[in-house]
Amino acid sequence: MIDLRSDTVTKPTKAMLEAMMQANVGDDILREDISVQELESLGAKITGKEAGLFTVSGTMSNQIAVMAFTQRGEEVIVGAESHIYNLEVGGLAALSQVQVKAISCPVGKIPLDTLNRSIRSAGVQNPRTGLLCLENTYNLNRGYAIPAEEIQVASDIAHQYEVSVYMDGARIFNAAEKLQTCVPTLCQSVDAVQFCLTKGLAAPFGAVLTGSAAFIEKARWLKQRLGGGFRQAGYMAAAGTIALQTMQKQIAEDNRKADFLAAKLQKIHPDLVVWDGSMTNIISLDLSGFSITDEAFLQGLLQKGIKIKSLDEKKYRIVCHKDTSWDDLNYVETVIKHLLLRVDAAQI
Ligand SMILES: *Cc1c(COP(=O)(O)O)cnc(C)c1O
Repeated sequence: MIDLRSDTVTKPTKAMLEAMMQANVGDDILREDISVQELESLGAKITGKEAGLFTVSGTMSNQIAVMAFTQRGEEVIVGAESHIYNLEVGGLAALSQVQVKAISCPVGKIPLDTLNRSIRSAGVQNPRTGLLCLENTYNLNRGYAIPAEEIQVASDIAHQYEVSVYMDGARIFNAAEKLQTCVPTLCQSVDAVQFCLTKGLAAPFGAVLTGSAAFIEKARWLKQRLGGGFRQAGYMAAAGTIALQTMQKQIAEDNRKADFLAAKLQKIHPDLVVWDGSMTNIISLDLSGFSITDEAFLQGLLQKGIKIKSLDEKKYRIVCHKDTSWDDLNYVETVIKHLLLRVDAAQI
């Protein structure tokens, strides 16, 4: 099976499994797990922040960050296409008790005039704007990589009003590779950031949240409240450390694979994929111009051993990752071409 639904399907490498066997562990709630502390320091260093916190997931990092930065009843500005807004079970309302102002970022770009207008001024009837949340890469928004300058300008606007800025950097390494920049540069102007270990980095578990030492102290306490306090989590952290040390080259290759497949798919029909130089390892397929039904398309792929993710009517997502080969991508293109051009796919 060629599974292109997400880079979360990646399995750990042998080096990660070996590191897990040798991890130096202890009770992490008592701060006695050396492997967890190593991962947290490395995460902080890699993002250019003071301190780090190993969490269960990107979702948990995001929710803890919002809980740490906001007060009940405040307003949080998020991208309308963001993970934190669309795919976290209403956590902002349920956990932080904030209300959301969602602004649409059609081509990945944060519309600065809208952002400026969205920050509320003081007033007896106004909710206070508590936080600006950014996302890089912008997952549901075609995996755009957001350049450092754009993050800087948006952060400057928020900071001018004393509003903190948080970045969901689940795939920040894909963004840095694509933009040919380093991760600290992308994180420089935000107050806190998180990245996932379980996407292209292929670790089996976890995410790392980073920020100032004071922020991380508060975040650690909130993590405990959510039941996220760890004991011998060093086994998982050790895999994460190896992921950070060894998988950067793979991330660059994942982006190149997506470039390669997107270019091939574009040759089938120019409107089939939306692709430009700012996209990373996520390819968005748009089948509006084709008569094939969603069911026939997905079934046709499945019969040929290919899984992709359906996002909406006639909209799909393909994610390139370490467990798909270049040959697989050639095969995927051939199968899609046959399905769309209604050639008998049985002979592939
Ligand atoms: C995957 C993802 C998350 C959530 O991470 P989990 O570890 O699956 O909870 C958050 N934000 C973005 C942008 C993601 O792509």
